[in-house]
Order: sequence, then C-alpha cells, then structure tokens
Amino acid sequence: MTIPKSLQTTLVHTDYQAPEGFAAFPGAIHHASTVLFKNVAAMRSGDWKEKNAYTYGLHGTPTTFTLEARLAEIEDGKHCLLAPSGLAAIAMVDFALLKAGDDVLLPDNVYNPNRELGSWLSADFGVTARYYDPLIGEGIAALIQPNTKLIWTEAPGSVSMEVPDLPAICKAAHERGVVVALDNTWSAGLALRGFELGVDIIMQALTKYQSGGSDVLMGAVITRDPALHERLSLSHMRLGMGVGADDAYLVARGLPTMRLRFDAHDAAARKLAAWLQARPEITRVLHPAFTDCPGHEIWKRDFSGAGGLFSVVFDERYTEAQTDRFVDALKFFKIGYSWGGANSLVMPYRIQRMRNDWQDKGILVRFNVGLEDINDLIADIERALGELQ
Ligand SMILES: *Cc1c(COP(=O)(O)O)cnc(C)c1O
Repeated sequence: MTIPKSLQTTLVHTDYQAPEGFAAFPGAIHHASTVLFKNVAAMRSGDWKEKNAYTYGLHGTPTTFTLEARLAEIEDGKHCLLAPSGLAAIAMVDFALLKAGDDVLLPDNVYNPNRELGSWLSADFGVTARYYDPLIGEGIAALIQPNTKLIWTEAPGSVSMEVPDLPAICKAAHERGVVVALDNTWSAGLALRGFELGVDIIMQALTKYQSGGSDVLMGAVITRDPALHERLSLSHMRLGMGVGADDAYLVARGLPTMRLRFDAHDAAARKLAAWLQARPEITRVLHPAFTDCPGHEIWKRDFSGAGGLFSVVFDERYTEAQTDRFVDALKFFKIGYSWGGANSLVMPYRIQRMRNDWQDKGILVRFNVGLEDINDLIADIERALGELQ
C-alpha cells in the first residue's frame, strides 16, 4: 500500500528499493550516524559489542566491520577496532588498560606523540610512565613493578630504528601478568608477525602503507584475546572513536596492492641505504637490514622485510645549518612527516633532545623512500650533498 504524501515529504522519503543482488569487488560505502531498526524488539536486542547488529554509526557499519575483519586477518588476529588516527589507536589502548595508580613502560625511542601521551597520563591522570632502553630485551624484567600494567614496544623505532627483542620482552612481561602492545606500523603487519612473537595487542597506523595515498588518517588495534578485546571495545566506545566511511573505503582500497608497494619501497630503500653507507658524509646508516643498526641481528631473526623508512647520521663535522641546507636542496624528497605514500620524504630530527640516552653527536636525517625511480632519488641526494661543503 502506498501512503499518500505531499511533495515535501517526497523530498525526504522514497519508496524505491534498488534490486537485490548487485556484486562488485569494492565493498559498499555505508554512511550513517543514525542506524535504522526494523522494530522496537530489534532495537532492544542488538549488542554493539558483539558486532552482530548495527546500533549507531559510531559503533560500526558494514564498511567498518569489513575493514576491521580484513585487518585482523592480515595480522593473524581475531578482533580489530578502527580509530580516527594511529595516535587515537594508541590512546584507545592506554585508556583501556591504565587507571590512576598504574604504571606503563615505553621504549625510549617510542613514536614521539605516544611519549607525549605517556607524559600527559603521568602529569594529570595519576599513571606513571617510565622509559626503557629499546634494546633491553629480557632485562625489562627488572623494571616491571607490581603496578605495571602495560608495556609498549615499537619494532623498530621509527626515527632511530633500534629493533627490540620482542619474544624476550613478552616472556618477561607475561611471567608477571603484564600486557604487551606493539606499534607495528613500520612493517605494516607484512614483515613482522607480532602475535607469533608473543605480543598481546598490535596497533597499526593505517595512515602509512595500508592507505598508501598520503590522504587518509586512520589507526587500528588488533587482538586475539576476547577479554582484552572487550576492554578495548569499551575504551573505543567511551572515547567515541568513529572513522569516516569514505576513509575506511580508501584504506580498504589500498590493501590489495600493499605487498607490492611495500616490497618496492623496501628494495629502493636498501639500494639508497647502501649507497649512503659508502658516502664519506655519513657515519651511520640506521636501517635494520644494515649491520650499523642496533638490533640488526634481531631484525634478521624476526623480520621478513623492511619497507621504505630509514635514517642516517651525518658526520659530526657538519653543523645543523649545513644539513638543513642539504635537506632544503633535495627536489624529489619533500620535507614532511609520515611515510608509506608514493612520494619520497625527508625529515631532520633533533634526536639529542628527544632521547634520554642518545650518544651520536652528528645530525640525524630520516628518509622515506617513495616509488620514484631509485636512480633519480640517488642523483637527487648526490646533488644535495654538494650543499654540505
Ligand atoms: C604515524 C605513526 C603513528 C600515528 O599515526 P597517525 O595516523 O599519524 O596518528 C603511530 N606510530 C608510528 C610508528 C607512526 O609512524
């Protein structure tokens, strides 16, 4: 029965239903704040936590549930929650696991905004955040206190590139009932199998390789343990961690080509790193596949690839003004944060101010090797090195 309606109501309501059975490779993009229930009973029976019903846009749509399931599968996990950025994903973990009186351990080379969040929790929320040497391995046992609830790891650190011994850290943590979270952004879940090495929570900045387009911000938190997932789900819900449907679509669109892109970044970065290693201006190449990099042996044991991100340390005879001129002179390497897109990026870091224990005096510069022809990139750097003189 068609109910009579005025033109104004026709502008709002339609009776048309598209035919069922449409099929195509891309998943549908479902936009929603309000989600509709068939009737009151359906509204009352759904549980957003179980992902067996749709209740509100913030709690998931077919678009976000599908992306979550795919990301969990890639990491060999069971559960996944999306966050509006990688940093938001980190915050979701901290707020799920830490309360006043608790202690969290972070590697001294941790992604700096994660360190900043730790400082904030320490200053204003009654949590203590302490920092450990990323190469500490089983020595972490001595730092764990009865109130330590969470250990963050990052493999490798995304500026100074130390590779931690995850199995050793996880063993010491689990013997004391402490949860280990891994920031697995560097290897996109492709080159490092975090759950196999013992970690409990894997966090990803999907902003990087998953997107691949330098155009989306998103994060993910992946787990195997249902109890841990439930705690994270509550944090996710209470903090209002929604992601846009179009953004979820863009991330999903990047997945099929991610391995090919990652391997291309990896091959080019290793070529450039080898070229830089032979240069007299450079004292250390901080790339986990190179022997100069602290934790190189662990990388060989635990990783199956490397991606496009690495750093170098310039000889200490070069001043910051000189290395700034080098960075400014680059044409294909643009100055900017992040990585994982097609464009090469460069960033100088004042590493001595970021770290408690940094020894090198030379300037650290980080490269993200994009998808340009590697010979053009090497020529770009060779030209810019001329500015050091
Ligand atoms: C980029 C990045 C993040 C944060 O991701 P955003 O989406 O930029 O917030 C976290 N950890 C690491 C190692 C990253 O590189």
